[in-house]
Amino acid sequence: MSGDRALLYVVATPIGNLEDFSPRARRILEAVEWIAAEDTRRTLNLLRHFSIHGRLFSLHEHNEEARVERVLRHLQAGESVALVSDAGTPLISDPGYRLVGRVRRAGFRVVPIPGPSALVAALSVAGLPTDRFAFEGFPPSRKGLRRRRLEALATEPRTLVFYESSHRIAESLADMAELLGHERRAVVARELTKSHETLLEGTLRELAERVAADPDQQRGEFVVIVEGAGEAQGEEGSVEAERLLAVLLEELPVKQAASLAARATGLPRNRLYRRALSLKGEG
Ligand code: SAM
Repeated sequence: MSGDRALLYVVATPIGNLEDFSPRARRILEAVEWIAAEDTRRTLNLLRHFSIHGRLFSLHEHNEEARVERVLRHLQAGESVALVSDAGTPLISDPGYRLVGRVRRAGFRVVPIPGPSALVAALSVAGLPTDRFAFEGFPPSRKGLRRRRLEALATEPRTLVFYESSHRIAESLADMAELLGHERRAVVARELTKSHETLLEGTLRELAERVAADPDQQRGEFVVIVEGAGEAQGEEGSVEAERLLAVLLEELPVKQAASLAARATGLPRNRLYRRALSLKGEG
């Protein structure tokens, strides 16, 4: 593949099932001079399985800047490079966007070799609207930051898609229920394409309870898909909720008024609590 038309290929690899490795991806990994892999050991296992003999070097989030120079040197020498991540499509919650941008700006072609991605696989079976969606990647691991991020999404009308790991799936679902609304519909897609593939569907309240109660449902890799904010969470609902809050605040302390209004409207309690504080002039 060497010559003056060296390319950077961005190659998708399976997210669990090796049968999802495309013939084109295989041909490209066999043909390129170099493979830039997020974790060379994991990629070596894949290559061995398909009897591909590639030359590898690592490219992960901590050395991407430095590796850009190396990739440019290979391309300038007429050697093509393929970028792969541990699983799925590179750049989707994976390293590579800096590399791709720099390589294209340096005048080289960047060619996608599309294939599996947990994001699209989960959306394709969730049964929630897919005409518009917002991919949020991993929610922040620190609780305070995560809760603030979720709060900012409470009125987002598009379907929301999150990645989550086994360490945090239970806490994240609990925070989502509290901050996006307990009655919002959602789907938890676990271990897609693998032998323990599971799809749980229900309200965020039901899903948070179900996953918290079952350690088996906390194992593996997860995509969480949450329906967008409907009218109840949107502007119209807010006006109604505000009226109700104002009435309740005439008789009740802030905390109780916010709780009752949350139960009546399905809106997140925290949001109503803050609104109640500001209505009282305390926020
Ligand atoms: N680039 C990958 C892609 O295209 O899907 C995603 C990489 S990201 C570092 C890894 C996360 O993707 C996991 O923590 C999980 O949230 C999600 N994921 C990957 N494989 C999955 C699978 N088989 N089932 C469910 N989620 C998966």
